[in-house]
Amino acid sequence: MKPELMEILVCPLCNSKLSLRITTEENGEILEGTLHCSNDQTVYPIEDSIPNLLPTSDY
Ligand SMILES: [Zn+2]
Repeated sequence: MKPELMEILVCPLCNSKLSLRITTEENGEILEGTLHCSNDQTVYPIEDSIPNLLPTSDY
């Protein structure tokens, strides 16, 4: 994903802004990393340059 995506990405649970931690970056594109919601402490993975904002926990 492009870093610019951070401008529009929000936590799907609470609509808060997410903070980015980059693990692997190439040519200005984020390949692997995590997105953190500081409001509810949810962590979303970025894998193969795709941010996965789907909730992973079952209810
Ligand atoms: Zn949240």
